[in-house]
Amino acid sequence: MRNPKAQPTLASSQDGLVEVSASEGLLRSILATVPDAMIIIDTSGAITYFSAAAEQMFGYDSQEVLGQNIRLLMPEPDRERHDDYMHHYLETGQARIIGIGRFTVARRRNGEVFPIQLSIGEAGTGQDRVFSGFVRDLTEREEARIHLEELQNEIAHVSRVSAMGTMASSLAHELNQPLTAIANYVEGARELLNNPNLDNIDTARQALDDAAQESVRAGQIVRGLRDFIGRGTAERRVESLPRLINQANALALIGAREVGIDVDLEFDPQAESVLVAGVQVQQVMVNLIRNAVEAMETSPMRKLSIRTQRLSKDFVTVSVTDSGQGFAPENMDRLFEPFFSTKGEGMGLGLSICRTIVESLGGSIWSEQTVDGMRFSFTLLSADTEDSDDGPASDLSG
Ligand code: ADP
Repeated sequence: MRNPKAQPTLASSQDGLVEVSASEGLLRSILATVPDAMIIIDTSGAITYFSAAAEQMFGYDSQEVLGQNIRLLMPEPDRERHDDYMHHYLETGQARIIGIGRFTVARRRNGEVFPIQLSIGEAGTGQDRVFSGFVRDLTEREEARIHLEELQNEIAHVSRVSAMGTMASSLAHELNQPLTAIANYVEGARELLNNPNLDNIDTARQALDDAAQESVRAGQIVRGLRDFIGRGTAERRVESLPRLINQANALALIGAREVGIDVDLEFDPQAESVLVAGVQVQQVMVNLIRNAVEAMETSPMRKLSIRTQRLSKDFVTVSVTDSGQGFAPENMDRLFEPFFSTKGEGMGLGLSICRTIVESLGGSIWSEQTVDGMRFSFTLLSADTEDSDDGPASDLSG
C-alpha cells in the first residue's frame, strides 16, 4: 500500500471502470484474504473501498457503505466528532492518529460496539488524497483476557481453599488456646462460687469477663477462617481434560515462552472427559508447570511435556515432565510435605496443595526422576463412557 497510485485506482476498480492489472489483482487478492479489515476514505470522509474482511467485521455489504461517511462505523462520541478531526488534520497537518495507530472502538451494523486496533495511512495529494485504515477486531482477544482474569481469580480462590487443608492443624491449635482458657476460667469461677463471699464473687466475675473475652477471640479466629475460604468448595462435573490443561498451560506459561521452553502436549483420545472440579485441576496443573519451569531455569535444554493417558476403566493419568535440575532421590518422599521447599522464597505449599486436591478428587499423585529431569503424575476419575482396552478397573481405585 506504499504506492500512492494504487489506492485510488483500486477504489475506482470497485466500480468495474478500470481494467484490473496483474499487480492490482494480486493486491486485491491479498486484501481479500488478510484478516484485518481495510477501508479507504477520501478527504470528505466518504468510503471508497470496503474490503471483504470489513464486510464481515462490520456486517455491511460494500455496496451499502460506499459513498457513505466513515462515521457510520463509529460509536459516539467519535461519530459526532470525526468530521472535526478530519478538518483539523487537513487544515493543520497535525495528526492525532494517522501514521500512529491506536486501540479504540468501532460499531457494527447491529449496533454492537467492539474493541479494535486501528492503523491509518495516507496516500496521494490534492483531489486524489485518500486515507486507508486497517482495522483489527480485538473482541476475541479481549474476551480471552477477561476469561484469563476470571480464571486467575478462581485459581487464587481455590488456592486459598486448598491451603486451608494444610493450615487446618495450625488453626486447630489456635482455636484450642482460647477454648482451653475459657474452660479454665469457667471452672475457676464455679469453684469460687462454692464459697460465695464478696471477694470470691468479685474474682469470679473477673474470671467470667475473661472467659467472655476469650470466646470473642475464638469467634474472631473462626470469622477469619470464613473470610479466608470465601466462597464454598468447588463443584465436580464432567470436564474436557485437554481443555482444562490448555487453559492451565496458558496461565502457567505466561512469560515462559520468552525463556525458550519447548512445550509438547500429547492427549490420549481415550482420556477426554474427567469428573472433577475444573479449577482445582487447573490449580494442580499450574503448580506443576510452574515448578517445572522453575526447575529448568538453568538447564541448557528446556523441554516440558504434558501427557494424558487412559490408565484403566475408572482412571486417567496426567503427567508433567521437565528436563530440569531433577531432585535428590533420598528426599523424594518429602516433596509433598507441607512447608518443604528448597527454594529461597518458596512456601513449600504447592505440591502439598496438589496432593490435597488430587486426593480429594479420588486420585493419587507421585513423582519420579527421569533421565534428564522430573516427572509428576496424577490420576483423575475418568468420565469417558467407553472402556479403555487395557487394565482392569480396580488398578487404583482400592
Ligand atoms: P515451592 O515451589 O514453594 O518450593 P512446592 O511444594 O511446589 O513448593 O515444591 C517443593 C519442592 O519440590 C521445591 O522446593 C523443589 O525443591 C521440589 N520440586 C518441585 N517440583 C520440582 C521439579 N519439577 N523439579 C525439581 N524439583 C522440584
